[in-house]
Amino acid sequence: MNILKDSFGRKFPYIRLSISEVCNFKCGYCLPDGYKIDKSDNRTFINIEEIRRLAKALSELGVSKIRLTGGEPTVRKDFFEIVKILKKNSGIKKTVITTNGYRLDKIANDIKNSGLNGINISIDSLNADTFKKITGHDRLEEILKGIKKLKNLDFKNIKINAVLLKGINDSEKDFNDWAEFVKNNEIDFRYIELMQTGDNLDYFNKYHVPAKNFINYLNNNNWVIQTFGKDAGPSKNYLNPKFKGKFGVIAPYSEDFCKSCNRLRITAKGDLRLCLFGNTGINIRHLMQKDSQLEELKDLILKQLNFKKESHYLEIGETGLTKNLSTTGG
Ligand code: SAM
Ligand code: SF4
Repeated sequence: MNILKDSFGRKFPYIRLSISEVCNFKCGYCLPDGYKIDKSDNRTFINIEEIRRLAKALSELGVSKIRLTGGEPTVRKDFFEIVKILKKNSGIKKTVITTNGYRLDKIANDIKNSGLNGINISIDSLNADTFKKITGHDRLEEILKGIKKLKNLDFKNIKINAVLLKGINDSEKDFNDWAEFVKNNEIDFRYIELMQTGDNLDYFNKYHVPAKNFINYLNNNNWVIQTFGKDAGPSKNYLNPKFKGKFGVIAPYSEDFCKSCNRLRITAKGDLRLCLFGNTGINIRHLMQKDSQLEELKDLILKQLNFKKESHYLEIGETGLTKNLSTTGG
């Protein structure tokens, strides 16, 4: 049973857990100068034992799905051990990841064998030059190779996310390239609207574009919006029977975006964040130190939920504690 509920009646069966702030990419909207150690905060990233205790507490609070994210979650040496612990010892039903896929061609077998229930891969463009321009890395080919490997291994639940960027990947040609991709692959593709964070105001002003053009494209090309499932989350999905995959749009600036919020976040240093952009959030790591603290940890998480606000207030430029999404996992 899901016990995690806020004062607006929203339930939280889903946690995004960042396990590292480190990332090897330099996405213009996130870490344009690459990852830099935060000298003002010398806390380490949560260790595997802390993760085990946290996951147990969350599962007892009714959380059924954890998404491992970052930074880049697969840079952690103990990444597959973490997955194993979540799969075997936590009571969490589904463990999924969000990754930039930089090692996907090398670790596809391990991913399949780990029992992960799904993978979201960030690919901002199918054009290798554009991909390099956005991420600072010429790795599109390897990532696509990795996806092929996963498909050949019959890995289910692969999704691709791209941040929609004005003049970079928002042309009809870009949309057509992705349409060709989802036509032939049972893989869902979603555009995420660029979000403003504490660090990226100039980039945001230059490249933010509402998802409207893409939605018009979908409407003009016989894609039909799928009605929401119970715990559907914030992506609006579109179906077309001629295509194997779905299209989706994640538009954080749309009016009703926060109504479907079903997720909480925990940062790599053990802070509970009630909203990606909120100013509220506290450290809960001190209660991940001993098995005997389980009840106290559950209690603290439950109490914190009362402080979750109704909306992120992004539309009025509130970016809260979020300097960039590498700390909170997007
Ligand atoms: N490194 C992994 C990756 O890129 O998939 C996981 C972490 S990343 C922060 C998670 C997601 O957030 C990615 O899909 C990324 O494109 C997205 N993201 C990062 N900064 C963003 C921003 N300012 N606006 C919208 N999406 C953003
Ligand atoms: Fe790294 Fe992901 Fe941020 Fe890109 S979006 S810099 S891959 S954490």
